[in-house]
Amino acid sequence: MDESFEAVVVGGGPAGLTAGIYLMRAGIKAVLLEKQLLGGAPMNTEHVENYPGFPDGISGRDLMGRMADQARNVGLQIVEFSQVEGIELRDRSFVTRGGDESYASEGVIFATGTESIKLNIPGEDTFLGRGISYCATCDGMFFRGLEVAVVGGGDAALSEALSLANIVDKVYIIHRRGQFRAQQILQDRARKNARVEFLLNKAPVRVNGGDQVESITLRDTITAIESDLKVGGIFFYVGSRPDTALLGNLVDREGAGFVVTDEDLATKTSGLFVAGDARKKSLRQISTAVGDGALAAVNLEKYILEGR
Ligand code: NAP
Repeated sequence: MDESFEAVVVGGGPAGLTAGIYLMRAGIKAVLLEKQLLGGAPMNTEHVENYPGFPDGISGRDLMGRMADQARNVGLQIVEFSQVEGIELRDRSFVTRGGDESYASEGVIFATGTESIKLNIPGEDTFLGRGISYCATCDGMFFRGLEVAVVGGGDAALSEALSLANIVDKVYIIHRRGQFRAQQILQDRARKNARVEFLLNKAPVRVNGGDQVESITLRDTITAIESDLKVGGIFFYVGSRPDTALLGNLVDREGAGFVVTDEDLATKTSGLFVAGDARKKSLRQISTAVGDGALAAVNLEKYILEGR
């Protein structure tokens, strides 16, 4: 028998938690399903500096811990380690399946964010956990005293490279172009940091080593010349993509699978809203995810009330 709610929120990052807080405060009976522990992508960010209200910055973990506490304080029912396997529409009611449980609801807010993209170069899988990581915040301390590489030129690569520079002896930032897409403030800091060195116009070809990572082979994207860089660790930050397959044809998608919404965050299926990084949008930040969560919740509330 399905457990019944007015709203199901899928995903426990900034967008999902904010949606949950707004729904509960509106008197909507909601449950939030999270496939791992609460917190989402910011849990992997050492230091968040651009979320207003924290003049000295705050660790991603602390910030998300506070959002989770706030959600619990307003009575949001939260189910962690609940992997949603399907969302179906039956008449005007959604059925969200996760593990052995099914949740019936009048509306759904889908806020599952994105996951790290792999480069899929030789050695990347082989050395996972043996020198390769996708999370400097989680694993950085294991690389104390070593020289490491960070691959990527976006916000994640530069901010995590700067955090790593506080722990390791040297960080090489390897980027396939001559220009970064990361925020200017992060680029300026990295340039000034004596432990950071840029290797521009270089594309990773393979990872080499024995028991552990020993080097990465790079191809110069201008000359095509290959060279080996000795490093004890490699952190890949080459972007992320959403996992929206389980929404089937309930939504339209663009690009790597980002869901198309209207300005109210509604999808082509009435009652189904998408909030946060999983939707097609121009800026993916904690602040915009929080805004999405609020907007989706308020519009879902309207949808539920109008249907009565
Ligand atoms: P991103 O902005 O998409 O950057 C990915 C980087 O990886 C780009 O520099 C890209 O190079 C490079 N790349 C992609 N495919 C590659 C390949 N096959 N080989 C080599 N390099 C490759 O991803 P992100 O940094 O993970 O950030 C994701 C989103 O989260 C962004 O919207 C970002 O603003 C946000 N974010 C914000 C913060 C913050 O505000 N502090 C922190 C983390 C993330 P090109 O530039 O050449 O395409």
